[in-house]
Amino acid sequence: MSFEEILSFVKKRNAHELEFIQAVEEVLLSVAPVLDRHAEYRNLKIFERITEPERLIYFRVNWMDDQGQVQVNRGYRVQMSSAIGPYKGGLRFHPSVTASVLKFLAFEQIFKNALTGLPMGGGKGGSDFDPKGKSDNEVMRFCQAFMSELARHIDDRTDVPAGDIGVGGREIGFLFGAYKKIKNEFSGVLTGKGIGWGGSLIRTEATGYGLIYFAENMMQTKKESLKGKTCLVSGSGNVAQYAIEKIMHFGGKVVTASDSSGFIYDEAGFTPEKLVFLIDLKDVRRGRIKEYADKYKCSFFAVNPKDDFNPLWAVPADCAFPCATQNEVNAKDAEHLVKNKVKLLGEGANMPTSPEAINILIDNGVMYAPGKASNAGGVATSGLEMTQNYMGQNWTREEVDKKLIGIMKTIHDTSLAAAKEYGKPGNYMVGANIAGFLKVAGAMQAQGLI
Ligand code: NDP
Repeated sequence: MSFEEILSFVKKRNAHELEFIQAVEEVLLSVAPVLDRHAEYRNLKIFERITEPERLIYFRVNWMDDQGQVQVNRGYRVQMSSAIGPYKGGLRFHPSVTASVLKFLAFEQIFKNALTGLPMGGGKGGSDFDPKGKSDNEVMRFCQAFMSELARHIDDRTDVPAGDIGVGGREIGFLFGAYKKIKNEFSGVLTGKGIGWGGSLIRTEATGYGLIYFAENMMQTKKESLKGKTCLVSGSGNVAQYAIEKIMHFGGKVVTASDSSGFIYDEAGFTPEKLVFLIDLKDVRRGRIKEYADKYKCSFFAVNPKDDFNPLWAVPADCAFPCATQNEVNAKDAEHLVKNKVKLLGEGANMPTSPEAINILIDNGVMYAPGKASNAGGVATSGLEMTQNYMGQNWTREEVDKKLIGIMKTIHDTSLAAAKEYGKPGNYMVGANIAGFLKVAGAMQAQGLI
């Protein structure tokens, strides 16, 4: 099939799954030269196969709220590819979750996991359940109901889920407890576990830290560093929090953070004390970000997702790190970033930048790091958690951090090398897609038509 035929094949089979098609189109555009060079991958229909989940599990989740009312949600697990290891990828609990969103995330996860160099396949799952505003008991009952079905499809050698939006330490605890009770086994079936019951040091921090290690590697290719740079961060959850910490560690200044209600602009910049307040606000008290602006006397801007641009990305800065959700940087936002001479955009979230916005950034010389490379530190450290669980060992904070730094450098260098080899020097998006694809395609070829 030609490139156009492959794309229309995928579009036809997944009509209405817009996020999934967006993710597939980006990868296909990048790997087209690989398919030209490797006729065997075309003949084996590697791309057509890799865009079809190996298994998509879709289930009902019944649970009871604090008022004694029965609630019904949808649960999913997309087991996308096991070519290079057990399915691996997070669980997302958010009202926007659909099969399309989870398929796009599971598809991206294949290449991201391949880039880490660890033996992990691609998967993703979740529910349209919204933990926001629910009591701890309601979240526990939901997690138990969700796991009562998921448990039959996962184990530590088959499929190892982790957290994502709406699934943090609290949810992983309840999910792990439910799995242990159902299966009567204590294993590394989930990652992101607590320290003391199978978790790895640095896993909580890993996605945000890894993003900033990656960005620092990019800056160094231009003989620059994050030191003294003003940075925009969106989101205020797990990824955003530890990206903020690491930017401060490298001497940068973070002036924004956001949640789904809007963003704060703190011209003086975050400090360690302000970050402690933010983490407590979002993770413990589960409040809204405006409280930060009230406490530190800075500006809060309400944002309506329906507006045609997000003013957060119009704040003057040197670097931008979208760490909230998909498609949060559109073409207009990218124009603002270019106008303000932003040097680098590093994706902490998955697919936060629209295809038009990516083109605008790259065409204007902004260094662009795709999430599947720059946010891979989270899943890489999940892989390290799996290894520690298999070995029955716990590594120190320093050991895990050192491995994370090494993995992010390898992903950076591998992506750059692949981009250069395929005639797109400096294009991290093309490089990451190609390097990830080559590894998985080679494994699929070796394992035959299964
Ligand atoms: P969290 O749930 O911890 O935080 C998500 C943040 O994004 C919150 O501030 C939330 O605001 C905001 N947000 C979520 N949805 C929207 C929306 N539709 N519009 C505006 N803001 C929104 O999630 P994570 O930090 O774990 O994940 C953030 C991103 O990073 C996701 O794209 C995820 O897939 C990706 N990622 C996460 C990894 C991890 O290890 N956690 C690994 C790799 C990628 P509010 O508080 O109002 O809900």
